[in-house]
Amino acid sequence: MGRKHKEILGYNVDLLSFNEAIDFIINKSQKESTQTITINPEMIAYADQNEEFAKILKTADLVIPDGFGIQLALRIYGIKQERIPGIEFARKIIEYCASQSMPIALIGAKKETLAKACKKLKEDIPNLNIVYAKDGYFEDTEERQIIEQIKEVKPKLILAALGVPKQELFIRKYMKEFEKTIFIGVGGSFDVWSGEVKRAPIMFRKMGLEWFWRLINAPARFRRMFPTLPIFLFKVIINRK
Ligand code: UDP
Repeated sequence: MGRKHKEILGYNVDLLSFNEAIDFIINKSQKESTQTITINPEMIAYADQNEEFAKILKTADLVIPDGFGIQLALRIYGIKQERIPGIEFARKIIEYCASQSMPIALIGAKKETLAKACKKLKEDIPNLNIVYAKDGYFEDTEERQIIEQIKEVKPKLILAALGVPKQELFIRKYMKEFEKTIFIGVGGSFDVWSGEVKRAPIMFRKMGLEWFWRLINAPARFRRMFPTLPIFLFKVIINRK
């Protein structure tokens, strides 16, 4: 398929610029439904414990390097790759959809958060057509009904903000029921778009220090993430050829 990628601990990461990644997924989605994953070290650690999730990571249409850990791993392998934050990638795809009059669907986050995110997105992006929005706190037994509702309104982009691994599993389970649709797992993006959660200031992001910002501002989340990173980097170094 000619995808340029690098394998990190058994998982392929696509090596593309931000714009190339956008073009790739827009083009591919004109032929079939696609799943984009924004990979980070915690996802790799989780995949090592969960075969189904590992398979999804290995067979996704696009795996973009989100986060400092993956960028650092690629550096260790001698590859200089720009970070492609999932939230920015998803936003660009939303803007593209709006410009092409393609309807979009959002699923995930808490009810009020989702409502605020939809409102903000509509205010910021001209022509945006959100045809479906559902919070991410539903029972498994409701899934079928949700999918049927989404199918009826035929969105071209479906963003799932259900957290890892739920969003990836959800997308993989249902994507083939949709025609030529872009699926992206977007983690906490709705929380940010709603204005409830602040991203790190641009200076931190540019320097690859978003993790440091989290250490200060969301220490509980950081503590959850932190032990994975040194172990991940240790394995990457050991596997260096
Ligand atoms: N979330 C959801 N349903 C769930 C669990 C999480 O909609 O059952 C949402 C949560 O409200 C948040 C998003 O998923 O908006 C991402 O959550 P978190 O930041 O914990 O996940 P991560 O991005 O770290 O995987």
